[in-house]
Amino acid sequence: MFAALDIGGTKIAGALVDSAGALGHRVQLPTPARESGAAVLAVVHRVLDRLAAAPEWAAVTAVGIGSAGPVDLAHGTVSPVNIPGWREFPLTAEVAAHPAVGARRVALAGDGVAMAAAEHWRGAARGAADALCLVVSTGVGAGLVLDGAVRPGPSGNAGHLGHITVELDGEPCPCGSRGCLEGIASGTAIARRALGEGWRPAGEDRSARAVAVDAAAGHPVAAAAFDRAARALAAGIAATAALVDLRRVVIGGGVATAGPVLFDPLARHLDRYAALPYVRGLDVRRAELGTDAGLIGAAALCR
Ligand SMILES: [Zn+2]
Repeated sequence: MFAALDIGGTKIAGALVDSAGALGHRVQLPTPARESGAAVLAVVHRVLDRLAAAPEWAAVTAVGIGSAGPVDLAHGTVSPVNIPGWREFPLTAEVAAHPAVGARRVALAGDGVAMAAAEHWRGAARGAADALCLVVSTGVGAGLVLDGAVRPGPSGNAGHLGHITVELDGEPCPCGSRGCLEGIASGTAIARRALGEGWRPAGEDRSARAVAVDAAAGHPVAAAAFDRAARALAAGIAATAALVDLRRVVIGGGVATAGPVLFDPLARHLDRYAALPYVRGLDVRRAELGTDAGLIGAAALCR
């Protein structure tokens, strides 16, 4: 049995996960993302306290952590963009220092890598020797499965598709580059684009979810914002497929729940951008694990 932690800018989740990948003893607390690094760590320890109180804790052999990135596996540190109190924060050591963890191994990965590990173990990338798994939500994260194994890379950020440039002279990105995929295809970017082009929501919700509803109803500006996001995703996916020679692509996250509004234009644009014979006809699938992917992936890191 493994203990899994999924650390993001809005929530810190934990669970005990058995060797088949089934989740038990879930705990979830809000992330005090605007508070000090110590305050965020205190919540992580509170989640561990509750997991350790379960009778099954005695069977736990390792602790896996999927964290918002970037992460630095070489040093066991994380610097999540949306948790300003954590910069080069020694998360692995701080989790290992929790009294209940004791001598158990602690494994860390970025959330994109964790999602790829989860989908490869129990989800839509199961059985694929090579796969690209993306999370399209407030940001765009991703992870790679190559030659049958998840490839975190030396720093733990391999496959981080959200920050490859798909528009050479595009907008500056908070990461320091410009024209990044995340700046066009994230839910945040889709809503910003739609609002900027004159879309107005019918209700209070100004998020990509509301844009998706209107796009599905045929609103041209809303549909155009999704089409642009799908085009950027297609360019990034086609480039990745060309680079590492993979067939399977798994897409999850809140924006993917838009369904055909995203996936139909994505298929159309992939037809154009993935043109070489070995990248034609990519097998694009919806992620299967939803919001559990972070926890299942954190456990998968321990296997
Ligand atoms: Zn960027």
